[in-house]
Amino acid sequence: MWKSFLNLWLKFPCPLCQRTAEDVVCRYCQKKLESCRLKNSQGLWTGDLPVFAWGRYEGQLKRALATLKYNHHPEIGVLLGKWLAKSWQENNVIAPSLKLTIVPIPLHKTKLQSRGFNQAVSLGRGFCQETGDDLEPEALMRVKASKAMFGLNPAQRGKNLQNAFAISENWQKSSKSRSILLLDDIYTTGTTIKEAAQILRQQNINVVGAIVIATPSRLEI
Ligand SMILES: [Zn+2]
Repeated sequence: MWKSFLNLWLKFPCPLCQRTAEDVVCRYCQKKLESCRLKNSQGLWTGDLPVFAWGRYEGQLKRALATLKYNHHPEIGVLLGKWLAKSWQENNVIAPSLKLTIVPIPLHKTKLQSRGFNQAVSLGRGFCQETGDDLEPEALMRVKASKAMFGLNPAQRGKNLQNAFAISENWQKSSKSRSILLLDDIYTTGTTIKEAAQILRQQNINVVGAIVIATPSRLEI
């Protein structure tokens, strides 16, 4: 009797649709999110800075990322991070013997203060819980408060993010010999990830690539 009482008590409304949820999101939303999953997550895993993506930035996944960021639901990030990890492992992208360090793209401190958390760190927590990789949320700092990228052309985006990142002085030197996988929520033009990778590579740090939750369907291969 106690168990059924607790079960009833532990059910929370789904943050995406307010139905009762037994997990982070309800079964209905889980299904809708699953339908946004890419058939080929490795379509952008090529070139100098390969990118592995979980899903298409549309529908319920777009909504989930907005709810995560703007309605303060870091648990959605942890859930999506776990799904990203499972897909990453299933795809065997990199030999599992290679120990990776996950570096989430940082927010500028004023944005971090207003949002209360960095969504990429939540994603990283979920990812590393599944894979056992190390999470380094403090490795990079965003030293320049860049403008919103929406509506900017590629050249303007590049300029907007120029010198936006720096390597944190507190970052342990021993970690710098590791292989880095950058992590962000959305990949569009790749300007953010390229800029972050460049800062690390300038210090001879090995950046293997980047992992993201969503990418627009126009980039789907
Ligand atoms: Zn729901």
